[in-house]
Amino acid sequence: MMGIKENYEAVLKKIETVSSGRQIHVVVVTKTHPAELVNEAILAGAKIIGENKIQEAEDKLPAVEGQVRKHFIGHLQTNKAKKASELFCMIQSLDSEKLACEIDKRCEVLGRVMPVLIEVNISGEEQKFGINPRDVHGFIKKVSGYENIIVEGLMGVAPFVDDETVVREGFRKLKQIYDRYASEFRFKYLSMGMTEDYMIAIQEGSNMVRIGRAIFGERN
Ligand SMILES: *Cc1c(COP(=O)(O)O)cnc(C)c1O
Repeated sequence: MMGIKENYEAVLKKIETVSSGRQIHVVVVTKTHPAELVNEAILAGAKIIGENKIQEAEDKLPAVEGQVRKHFIGHLQTNKAKKASELFCMIQSLDSEKLACEIDKRCEVLGRVMPVLIEVNISGEEQKFGINPRDVHGFIKKVSGYENIIVEGLMGVAPFVDDETVVREGFRKLKQIYDRYASEFRFKYLSMGMTEDYMIAIQEGSNMVRIGRAIFGERN
């Protein structure tokens, strides 16, 4: 196991080999890791960190130092929308109107606009969360009506299978949806790809990857 800095740099190098010069945003997924390790990643150059639990973020983020953007990448319950709106500069996992309404309300009070990604369910039954691909357009139309939310793209998690063809197919599907609506909604980010599959995701058009284990090692 190399150090965090070496791992982070190795990931960036690998990305370069498949990105064809496109800019790829790397979200360093810091869930389960203490603030000291998060700070080490920031010193190594991490620009964005990703957390998936509000309670953990609330406990940890005050001890996180340095300039870094904080993205929420986990499933967000409506009753945690207030905290999420305070702690994060992007919510990557918007997946219901109820949640959108709550984020909008909370951000209005805070006097801010929250950039969000729409989580799309590209793996069918296996995954509980995310908007069904056929409902994506209608959902964004509705969410775009809120004044304190701005939809900046899509997020997806590949099917949990070893079969690379199936994984690639999932990413391809999400990229197609992204391309279909990108100009209408002025998308900026297609967030897909994790430790196991980020190279495939980038080949299929991702411009934002969310990487934990390749940088920190296995989680306990
Ligand atoms: C944990 C997590 C990741 C990172 O997964 P790794 O396998 O550690 O790279 C990415 N996206 C989401 C939504 C996650 O919950």
